Amino acid sequence: MKPPPFDYRRPATLGEALDVLAEAGPGGKVLAGGQSLIPLLNMRLAAPARVVDVNRVPGLDGIEAGPSGVRVGALARHAAVERSPGAAAAQPLLRQALRLVAHPVIRNRGTVVGSLVHADPAAEMPAVLALLGGSVRLASLGGEREVPAAEFFTGPMESAARPGELAVSAFFPALPARSGTAFHEVARRHGDYAVAGVAAAITLDDDLRISAARVACVSVGPVPVVADVTAACGPRPAASVDWDAVAAAVRDLVEPEGDIHATADYRRHLTGVLAVRALRDAASAAHGEES
Ligand SMILES: Cc1cc2nc3c(=O)[nH]c(=O)nc-3n(C[C@H](O)[C@H](O)[C@H](O)COP(=O)(O)OP(=O)(O)OC[C@H]3O[C@@H](n4cnc5c(N)ncnc54)[C@H](O)[C@@H]3O)c2cc1C
Repeated sequence: MKPPPFDYRRPATLGEALDVLAEAGPGGKVLAGGQSLIPLLNMRLAAPARVVDVNRVPGLDGIEAGPSGVRVGALARHAAVERSPGAAAAQPLLRQALRLVAHPVIRNRGTVVGSLVHADPAAEMPAVLALLGGSVRLASLGGEREVPAAEFFTGPMESAARPGELAVSAFFPALPARSGTAFHEVARRHGDYAVAGVAAAITLDDDLRISAARVACVSVGPVPVVADVTAACGPRPAASVDWDAVAAAVRDLVEPEGDIHATADYRRHLTGVLAVRALRDAASAAHGEES
């Protein structure tokens, strides 16, 4: 199918992009990698009056990694972040999750920030941002604001980005020393969106007991479901954790819905299994072991 007609703009500067977005108001849509927007246009599930292609705006493709975390610019492609040694060192969960996003061809074009704004409850990157307590920086003619992950995802395919705003970057915080992360999911076909998935982060204390444990679950709610499971996991060494009890605790926290891909009960069961798998791997990583 062909998209409905729209006014196409390709600004050359950030200022121009914000101008044309402000002018368009609620009828404006940003085009980044196009891997979600173009199919939506072609299927006529979206009909914006104006599409603002930001691909020529300079300075938006940065990946800045440091001790506090990784700031990813609006035009940094999934593949660039996945391959960045600095990003992987500062926050390994980025690479672990990005390997599960779609196929390499889509990752070559799709952007991490686009995935956050798109806010698909089955997508990996919103869960990563939510688990880490990251944030998204939004710019408009009125200035900039930094929105924490807990306030950014407002519903299925809905984010806090307002008409006239461009998400210019996202920040993924690093974790304390002796921390580890992992991401596990099940998809019906390789590269598909997950039927269920869990990102996990674990931190160990000086005696190598679990002092913090968190999971973020995808495809089991309208937004990523983040749960602190420290009480179920710690403070004890990973080898002494009652993992069946942890799985039960996670299962109790999610309220999935059934659809043509999986029943609600199967999604809940899978989330418990994947949570344990991800938490155990995160604990191994925190010990400095390869999983
Ligand atoms: C076959 C297929 C399989 C896929 N599988 C997965 C998967 O398993 N997991 C997954 O997470 N994703 C998957 N995707 C989606 C892919 O990751 C997209 O690239 C991503 O969701 C959106 O990024 P984009 O840069 O392509 O955004 P676009 O398609 O350009 O935009 C998506 C939406 O976000 C808005 N937007 C984008 N950037 C900005 C910005 N900077 N500021 C404000 N608004 C913005 C757009 O206006 C639009 O509403 C898949 C896509 C395809 C086609």
